[in-house]
Amino acid sequence: MVRKFVIMGIQGSGKGTQAKLLADAFDLVHMSVGDIFRWNVQNHTKLGAHVRRVVASGHLVEDDVVERVIQARLADHDWNYGYVIDGFPRNAGQAEFFLESYDIDGVINLELPDSEVEQRVLARRLCSGCGLDYNLIAHRPKVQDVCDVCGSSLTVRSDDNPAALAVRLAEYHDKTRPVIEIFQRKEVVAHIDATRSRDEIQTEIRERFGLV
Ligand SMILES: [Zn+2]
Repeated sequence: MVRKFVIMGIQGSGKGTQAKLLADAFDLVHMSVGDIFRWNVQNHTKLGAHVRRVVASGHLVEDDVVERVIQARLADHDWNYGYVIDGFPRNAGQAEFFLESYDIDGVINLELPDSEVEQRVLARRLCSGCGLDYNLIAHRPKVQDVCDVCGSSLTVRSDDNPAALAVRLAEYHDKTRPVIEIFQRKEVVAHIDATRSRDEIQTEIRERFGLV
């Protein structure tokens, strides 16, 4: 049985974690567009150079580039038991493209109220020395504002401020609402409450799609 899913959710919703848990349990391939881009940047490929340029200019990677990446990834056919696509489609155009060429069994939509996203994102800290991530809610340092590992001071990412986050939230809702509508016309969309624990969320995803 081949199982094909798309997972959606705003930053802080635990989307990557849930995708990995699902992929590991059912031998699915976790196809993360973000991971593919990061790999290309780190390995200095032509695509990596392009992604770096676009992101540095403050833009999103163009639809046709993202679509080609997904197309190529799916064409690898290393997914005997299926896949979970993470980070695509991000807008209506990408969703239409996807559904013209591929079929899926379900869309997992992790839902988190904006107030909860704000709380989680604004609690993030980053070590200025070793780059380790902290979170004042989920992963506090032993000593306030000091890295447990290297002792450097913790900082806030420049785009983790309320104004920048409000822009990201509005953009996310504007672009993903039509994606959900498009998928809802053709596929099964499971809206999952992502305020709960990691395991509770995973259990519900499996229940909703009859995965045992
Ligand atoms: Zn550190």
